[in-house]
Amino acid sequence: MPKELVKIENLSKNYGQIEAVKDISLTVKEGEIVALLGPNGAGKSTLMNMIAGYLSPSDGEISVCGKNIKDDPLWGKEHIGFLPEGAPLYADLTVKQFLKYMAELRGVDDDQLKQAIQLANVEEVLNQKVETLSKGYQRRVGFAQSVLADLPILMLDEPTDGLDPNQKKHMRGLIAKMGKNKAIIISTHLLEEAEDVCNRIVLMKQGQVVADGTLKSILSRYKSKSLEEVFFKLAGDKGEQA
Ligand code: ADP
Ligand code: MG
Repeated sequence: MPKELVKIENLSKNYGQIEAVKDISLTVKEGEIVALLGPNGAGKSTLMNMIAGYLSPSDGEISVCGKNIKDDPLWGKEHIGFLPEGAPLYADLTVKQFLKYMAELRGVDDDQLKQAIQLANVEEVLNQKVETLSKGYQRRVGFAQSVLADLPILMLDEPTDGLDPNQKKHMRGLIAKMGKNKAIIISTHLLEEAEDVCNRIVLMKQGQVVADGTLKSILSRYKSKSLEEVFFKLAGDKGEQA
């Protein structure tokens, strides 16, 4: 039986009047590459930030590798590699200084650091300050940080945002390769990304999960020929509420 690495129960998050995440329950197992797919504002980042322990839920429970992160917030951080939205990096450090610092925090040795640098393909900008990098390179540095330690859960918020088509392809290949003995959760609003890289699709709209399953099962359940059709049916502007 594959291990349940993330278990979310009745999770909600309100920002004042805005219900960004509404009563979501979800379990992610080892070997799953899950796409949180949904239009902007669906609640993908809010959900990920709660799993990562960056944001506290308004209601509900999150377990990471068998432990409730409310009881042990560090536990979650020790088991999840996370690429947050945007690039909240230390802008005035060089790439090398930044990654070295993160490696020290994670207790990762130089070999592993080197491996992450290679994987993310950031060798040629190692001595450049983070703030001078293009958006694509900043994403790649963020990605290197998230894979420094080989953790059981990898969570990437819009990992290909800002990358050119070649880099997108490279990143998707990496994610697919790493999926074997981890649980990977990525967020995206790109249909082809969910289709190509992920073996499970969780479609979100307005803070709720409106479909969840393999591409095949979702197409068959909603009698659709393409994910695009399902997306517009369930999460488009005129989509019905679950
Ligand atoms: P997604 O990542 O799917 O685009 P978000 O999780 O960023 O969605 O946002 C979900 C909803 O919560 C949106 O309506 C957004 O405007 C709102 N929201 C997100 N962050 C905040 C915040 N810090 N304060 C107030 N509202 C927020
Ligand atoms: Mg987002």
